[in-house]
Amino acid sequence: MTRLWNEPADFADEMIDGFVAANARSVRRVTGGVVRATVSPRGQVAVVVGGGSGHYPAFGGLVGQGLAHGAAMGNLFASPSTQQIHAVAKAADNGGGVFFSYGNYAGDVLNFDAAQERLRADGIACETVAVTDDVSSAPPAERHKRRGIAGDLTVFRIAAAAAEAGADLAEVARLAGHANDRTRSFGVAFTGCTLPGAEKPLFSVPEGRMAVGLGIHGEPGIDETGIPTADGLAEMLVEKLLDEVPDGVTINGARVVPILNGLGSLKYEEMFVVYRRIAQLLDAAGITAVDPHVGEYCTSFDMAGTSLTLFWLDDELERLWDTPVDAPAYRRGSVTAAARAEVGPDAATAAAEIPDADADSRAAAAVVVRALETIVATVDANVEELGRIDAIAGDGDHGIGMQRGSHAALTAGAAAHDSGAGARTTLERAADGWSDKAGGTSGALWGVILASLAAELGDIGRPSASAVAAGVAAGSAGVMAYGKADVGDKTMVDALVPFTDALTAAVDSGASLAEGWRRAAESATTAAAGTAELLPRMGRARSHGQNSVGTVDPGAHSLALIVTAIADVLDAGRANQENPS
Ligand code: ADP
Ligand code: MG
Repeated sequence: MTRLWNEPADFADEMIDGFVAANARSVRRVTGGVVRATVSPRGQVAVVVGGGSGHYPAFGGLVGQGLAHGAAMGNLFASPSTQQIHAVAKAADNGGGVFFSYGNYAGDVLNFDAAQERLRADGIACETVAVTDDVSSAPPAERHKRRGIAGDLTVFRIAAAAAEAGADLAEVARLAGHANDRTRSFGVAFTGCTLPGAEKPLFSVPEGRMAVGLGIHGEPGIDETGIPTADGLAEMLVEKLLDEVPDGVTINGARVVPILNGLGSLKYEEMFVVYRRIAQLLDAAGITAVDPHVGEYCTSFDMAGTSLTLFWLDDELERLWDTPVDAPAYRRGSVTAAARAEVGPDAATAAAEIPDADADSRAAAAVVVRALETIVATVDANVEELGRIDAIAGDGDHGIGMQRGSHAALTAGAAAHDSGAGARTTLERAADGWSDKAGGTSGALWGVILASLAAELGDIGRPSASAVAAGVAAGSAGVMAYGKADVGDKTMVDALVPFTDALTAAVDSGASLAEGWRRAAESATTAAAGTAELLPRMGRARSHGQNSVGTVDPGAHSLALIVTAIADVLDAGRANQENPS
């Protein structure tokens, strides 16, 4: 249970403010999260980590000398946005490129990948290793699909130690990948967790039972048993991990770092009793425990549970592991304190200039703003319904996420239009506003749609119908590339692809934009209704798939509502053009 908060919606932000106030020696606040308060040598690779909040000390508590250079900090259990990650990476960059590492979750992958692309477009080299240590989340043949849990720490530390030692970006990425290959974790839980202001737990474990392999956001586990003794639990954890030893490792004679991680409300004393038996078992197997960790390294808010990580060292990894760290929540050895960084202006908040536009493009921008107003009105009118549908198989936040995103898009788009922006810039600002404020998977994907469309419209000249169709097609391709869903997976893709195909076909056969859009919206509406029959295979809804049969996919439904409402805006635009007043 969580007892203390002000406005639940402000909780994550206020938590970061307090965290920074308490740790100003190590970290300073920037747009999107925190970076080191100390200077790093010019040319040193910047290690940027991140993820949702609610996992302290991951991720902000792991920023400091010898560990991460910056952390992008999202909302509670929600990935940071592309903009947040990009802003933190820019602030952390020392001219040696940026290395991203985070737990392997769909929303984080999507946003870190998009931020990586932006950094590269800015001319900053960037590489990524997503951590996949949780053996319970996918079979060995699909290791790349596994989630990241407490094993984040080993990968972050090896990457950071390599960067501190002067390794270049490729070498940092190689070593982090190697550390990830040699890190395995397995966890159990006794209770779920309750986010601030929530009336009931986000997920729960039946009283007196233990969920085996449960994820740190309530993703289903692989089993449920009675609660064993402390020794019984130690035996289970060690057995699971000795069953899956990395390639090239011989158990007898191996050196490992064991990490017994508390998930939020398990007592340290209980964990020490469990660790006592773990140490005996490792010893009996001929394994040397190097630098054991018993404590909290990646929590799940107030969840009661624990996980064991084994990090299988080799000489190279052990040398890197053995280096000093001074971060707010993690200290090892003694670090020579670096000078405090001089704080310049936060690049992310400096107002960007509006590129030149002509009258035709500004007129198109006015249509864009009207379309954004229509999206806001449509989402507002359906916010509860969208939340209700999402709660059936997902987490119930689709309505509020779409509301936050569309309102932010309108604010940013209207401000750009008022400053004389053309269609491209207006829509680009709207895209940024949407994905930055929406949270959730759908917010990032709507950002991709609007940004792809923007790129085809330009700031000069009246956009043609085929340019709009090409922009929609690029958006659709972008959504599939980032979200990795196909038609039939029960996502917004099921409405977006038929919409795109119908629009392209209509425009290619000579229809006006308004006519083509109308026909395409009809296809999207039919297709969205058809998602009721499908089983979800992507996103959070995947875990509770069966529940959702008979209900439409929320993201497909909201997309159909929105494109239908925009058809009216385009009709009105055409009527105005035919009868200029
Ligand atoms: P979250 O799933 O993060 O809670 P929302 O609730 O706002 O985000 O949106 C849920 C919708 O997002 C789903 O109904 C689905 O249409 C869409 N979605 C989720 N994952 C994907 C994906 N990988 N590709 C395309 N669309 C997705
Ligand atoms: Mg949701």
